[in-house]
This record gives sequence, C-alpha cells and structure tokens, in this order.
Amino acid sequence: MPKQRLPLPEPETPPARPVLSDALPQFVLLEREVEIEFRPQMLAALQSKVDAVAAAAPATAPGCPHCGQPMRRHDTRPASWLARAGRLHAPISRYRCRPCRYECRPLLDLLGVEPGRISGALARLLALLATVAPYPLAARLAWLLLGVTISPMGIWRVAQRLGEAAANYSDELSLYHADSRSTGAPTQAAPSAVVLAVDGCSLGMQVRSRRRRRRDGETLPLLPPLEEGHFREVKTGVLLRPSERTEVSPGRRSLVRRFLVTCLGNADAIFAGLYAQLRELGWVGAHTVVVVVGDGAEWIWNRAPMFVRRCEILDFWHALEHAWEFAQLRYGKGSAQADGWVHQIAEDLKAGKVQEVIARLKRMRPQTPQSRESLRALIRYYSENAGRMRYDEYLRLGYGIGSGAVESAHKQVVHARFRQAGMRWSEAGARRLLALRLLLLNDNWALLDRLRMVSLA
Ligand SMILES: [Zn+2]
Repeated sequence: MPKQRLPLPEPETPPARPVLSDALPQFVLLEREVEIEFRPQMLAALQSKVDAVAAAAPATAPGCPHCGQPMRRHDTRPASWLARAGRLHAPISRYRCRPCRYECRPLLDLLGVEPGRISGALARLLALLATVAPYPLAARLAWLLLGVTISPMGIWRVAQRLGEAAANYSDELSLYHADSRSTGAPTQAAPSAVVLAVDGCSLGMQVRSRRRRRRDGETLPLLPPLEEGHFREVKTGVLLRPSERTEVSPGRRSLVRRFLVTCLGNADAIFAGLYAQLRELGWVGAHTVVVVVGDGAEWIWNRAPMFVRRCEILDFWHALEHAWEFAQLRYGKGSAQADGWVHQIAEDLKAGKVQEVIARLKRMRPQTPQSRESLRALIRYYSENAGRMRYDEYLRLGYGIGSGAVESAHKQVVHARFRQAGMRWSEAGARRLLALRLLLLNDNWALLDRLRMVSLA
C-alpha cells in the first residue's frame, strides 16, 4: 500500500505574493549598456577590416581553373551579408571565362561569405543552437544568448547550409578511405583491440517530400498522421578502445574517448563511415583485433568480415532478452521462477557455457504450442550465434559483452534531438542535422570553421 500524504492544514493568514524587484541589478544594466554602446563600434571596426581586405585584393584578373587563361571582369556590384555585429558591405567583382562557362567572385571566396546571408561566426553559432535545440527554441536562444533576432526558419536555413557542408565532408571522407590508395593516420600506436558497436533505431519521416510554402495569410493544413512505412532507420556506430573504459564506481563504467558515426538507412554507408573513422584515428594496425558488437541483425554480421582480424560478439543483453521472452511464456509473466531461470542462464552464459545452455534448452518440454515455438526460436538464436557468445573469453580479454555504449550513443545522437514529440524529418534535413550533431558529440565542432557553407537553392 502506498503511503497517503495528508493535506497540510491551511495557515491562518494567506501567504504573501513573492516580490519582484523594480530595479535591475546595477551590474546587469552596466553590461547591457556597454553592449549596446559598443555594437555599432564593433560593426564599424569590422567593416573597416573588410574594406582593407577588399583594397588589398589583387587587381589582376584570376586565371581560369579550367583552361588557365586569364579571366575577364564581367561586373562589380555591391554585396552585403549579415554578421553578429550587423550588416557588412563590399563591392564584389565577378570574373568570367566565356569558353569554359566559368564564373567566380574571388573576394567572396576569400572572405568565405555568402551575399545576402548570415555568414561567418554568427552562422556557426546559430547552427550550434539548432544542433542542440528544436528550431523555434534555438531562435529564442539566439535572442537570449546573442541578442540576435531570427526566425525559426532562419535558423533552419543556416543549419541546412552548414549541415550540407558537414554531411558532404563525411561522405567524401568515406569515399576517400574506401579506396585502397588513401592514406590513413599512422598506426604505430594502434591498440591491440578496438570495439565497434552498431545499432539502429527508427526515425519518423515527413510524408511529403517537399514542405509546402506558406502564402500570405494562409494557414497550412495539419500534417497527416504518421503512417506505417514512414519511418527510416538511423544507424549509429561507436568506436572505442577497451583499455580506455574506466570504472568510475563498481559496475559503472565511463568512457574517456569514443567516436560516433551515424547515417540514415544504409548499412554499407555506416560501415564505410566506421572504416573511414578508424583510418582517420589510426586505430587499426596490423595486429589490432576489431571487436564487433551487435544484436542479431544480419546487416551487421554480413559486413563484419571486412575486418580480417576480428572478434564478433552478440550483445549480452539481447541474448538475455530472448531468454526472457520464453521464460515469461513458460513460467508466467513476472514470476519468481522466470526470474530465477533467466538469472541462471545469464550466469551460465557469462561462464562461457553456451553449449550446455543449448543442450539444457533442448531437453525442455513446454506444454503450450506458443511456448514450444518460443523455445524453438530461442534454441535457433543461440545455436546460430553460439560462436559470438563466448562471454567468459570476452570478459577475460577486457572486450566487454554488451552494446551499452551504442545504446547511450543512440540516445545522445538521435533521441535527444530527433525524436521529440511530433517531430518529422525530411531525408535531407535529417542527414544534415545528424552530421552537425556528430561534429558536436565527437568534440569536432571546430571542423566547421574549415568547411565552406553550401548555398542551397
Ligand atoms: Zn577557362
């Protein structure tokens, strides 16, 4: 019986309304005053630096990258773009090579800005907000943190342009390392083992492939309810060195370093991404064992052989989950007997006695057709995966036996941003935001400074 809380007796006099001070703390006022006062000065200083870069830009026409001939100046027009301090301006010359049909605006390239758009550091900060919060909330944060007024759509646009750049970079990196002529990081310091855990989870997708534009005054109809088949699988992979798993308190492990890779849908793509990341890290040397941890999903085991020296592990918790299903049918849901039975299976599996467990299962004679079928499935699952269930050995080698790391990674990469109430994603939108989120979670956000924004039509 839950304890009942007695209502507190009402006090004799009603409680007073809490008091709000009329005067803001003086220091807060001072800080804001200075910000307001100096913002125009910052803008002026920034503009004069831009002017200096424009003045120093070479007056000679650039050579065409295709034919090598000098290009001809076509025109010079004023352009502007938006930064945190305000709007910046510069005259932009356009050069053309008529035979090659090539056109360029060297000053814009040099500055790394897009005419008419939010550019530079502000664009990257707004993308950061979009990476951690839904677009409307990110827009509110932009106001509170940066003093910048922007619509959720404006935040969305910035995130798309930088996300496209980040996603393209990671796709190209996968492609590069898939080629045998690529160069990876040095592998002299490669560990003796690397754990690679993969898992998938579903993402709700938009039914329409294009979002309708809102015309003046028109309200858009509600989105239709999510139907079966409008989900896509996001696959996430985690890379870590087992030696870096530290025990913060008994039974609680935390990781010093781990690298995440993610993609929408394609199993080959996630493995290509994991492989590229391993090459970038220099983690797989001639003697490194790649420890692949997964559930029973075939797409994982079909691709694991790409690593010659490997150890395949069936995630221990998935193995137990299957035993649970049968135990509940056989001994009743939540019964102490089911509990004890599964506990014994767990102990035996940890001790490496998978063959004994299978033999014991085969001697069982359940009563109902349903539990007989469940037992058959369990025996099949254990028999097919027996080679991946030598848990005593994995524990002894320090490889670990579960994919807990990938499940928590999934929550951080996907659930925390992509699976909030009512969220639906377009293919392109999810791909771009996943790429940004990975940069952040892999502590690689600075990479974004070295990528060019992609203009989207
Ligand atoms: Zn040319």
